[in-house]
Amino acid sequence: MKTAFEKNWTTIQRCVGKGNYQGCGKTLLLSADDIFICTFPPNAQEEEKALLYTFRCPNCGVFTHISQWHLPKMVRRRVMQKYLSRTAGNNEAV
Ligand SMILES: [Zn+2]
Repeated sequence: MKTAFEKNWTTIQRCVGKGNYQGCGKTLLLSADDIFICTFPPNAQEEEKALLYTFRCPNCGVFTHISQWHLPKMVRRRVMQKYLSRTAGNNEAV
């Protein structure tokens, strides 16, 4: 269940991409549901994985990471719950 805070929360982020993948630079308005967790490196052991808050640009499809410090605790918790329920089931991408 979403709280009013989570429903109303938005953040403005620029699509900058990561690593070798250049983003398109578009400015995007994101809600908590647009943000998900990527693990890095992808094939690492569970305890060695870093969890990165990420969004996918609807314009160019490139992933950009967001520092957790840009996200309020309630949003991080919601994104984390989504991640955990997904890994418990299957590894289907969002
Ligand atoms: Zn983009």
